[in-house]
Amino acid sequence: MTEKHDDKHQPQAEGKTKPQTEGKAVHGADDEQLRVNKIENGIVLDHLPPGSALKVLDALGVTAEFPGTVSILMKSPSSRHGLKDLVKIEGKALGKTELDRAALLAPHSTVNVIKGFKVVEKYRVSVADEVKDVVRCPNNKCVTNAEGKSIFRVEERNPLKLRCAYCERLYHAAELASPAHAQG
Ligand SMILES: [Zn+2]
Repeated sequence: MTEKHDDKHQPQAEGKTKPQTEGKAVHGADDEQLRVNKIENGIVLDHLPPGSALKVLDALGVTAEFPGTVSILMKSPSSRHGLKDLVKIEGKALGKTELDRAALLAPHSTVNVIKGFKVVEKYRVSVADEVKDVVRCPNNKCVTNAEGKSIFRVEERNPLKLRCAYCERLYHAAELASPAHAQG
């Protein structure tokens, strides 16, 4: 363990104190509210791999222009295993293609559909053995890009790797799910 020893030589900002409210701990119900807002209608994606939330939002097409409230919790302790990310998206319905794309990044995540502050539907995402017309092939010369179609077959599950059925290149799932390769 090492520590810096120059503390006593640090210049002190005399006569300029911080406002008392800044950095003050908040207790009670507000605490929970500060961490994640409850949403009325929308979706909650839970059990995302730690650090994946921003990429998942990209894959879902949720950008800065998205009008709804988006809450992101990254690297939160999970009851299931280790750390997890979680995103709450107000006013968002998920299409199958968006879900399939997100599943490539977060194959073990859970989707909660919220209506009137209640969970009305809950399911695990899944990656089918064949992923069709969900993402573009990153190979620019691949014939599928001109046709606007694609088929990838799962070759490995852990980590998730898929092979293009046409040019036969093998990709990590995360490479396919990046927005530059999103289809539609
Ligand atoms: Zn290809």
